[in-house]
Amino acid sequence: MAIALVPTGRAEIWVDAVREMTALHLTRRLVCAGVVIVGRRGEFDAVAERAVQQLVLDTMIVDYFVVGDLMRRLEPAIRSARRTISPTVRRELEGFTRREMPYCYLCGTDLTFDDAGPTSFTIDHVWPRAYGGDSEPENLLPACRSCNNRKGLTPSWSLYPVQALVAGFELEHSDIMEMPKEMRFAVQSRAAAAHAAATSVSLKEAFVNLGRPDLPTVIDISVSVDVFNLDFAAK
Ligand SMILES: [Zn+2]
Repeated sequence: MAIALVPTGRAEIWVDAVREMTALHLTRRLVCAGVVIVGRRGEFDAVAERAVQQLVLDTMIVDYFVVGDLMRRLEPAIRSARRTISPTVRRELEGFTRREMPYCYLCGTDLTFDDAGPTSFTIDHVWPRAYGGDSEPENLLPACRSCNNRKGLTPSWSLYPVQALVAGFELEHSDIMEMPKEMRFAVQSRAAAAHAAATSVSLKEAFVNLGRPDLPTVIDISVSVDVFNLDFAAK
């Protein structure tokens, strides 16, 4: 007998994910180009604003009247993307981390200070700057150097290589241990986004509320494992 096609039952989730990926890529493109335009002018003046407006019109097929609405969202995103973390905010966050949250919010490891090793303290933009993330405390959390590097500029679970994750049946604990960090980030990022949407908190608060991360758990051991069959677990 031929092997039948087996629907995964994830059709709608994947359609939503592809829509999200498209929106994220477009956001990144507009923010990056906007940063270059404003950078050349040195400030967000009227000339830069007109050039960014033209960029929106050239990049997207949109009604001219929609451009104003887009600009109201894009302008703060471009401003945020140009800003880096100030020394004061950096000092405050290090103090907070040492006192109250001395672990990496992405992997749960204890952070080290005064060194530059893989577990050393760094500050991560929960929503990346490249997508308009703020360099203010509301968007910053302590992460180990290794996770911060691995996360890179990824803003959401759908942009991790989750499509590649199809594991076997009846996974062992050791299999979960070997899961690449990016896959764990994806599981966590999905959980945080869902929590933020359900409870109307910021993405940062959602990550904090989920607790110190542990290895993901398999929801249904009897079916093969993809990113949707993994649950976030807190320590
Ligand atoms: Zn980490």
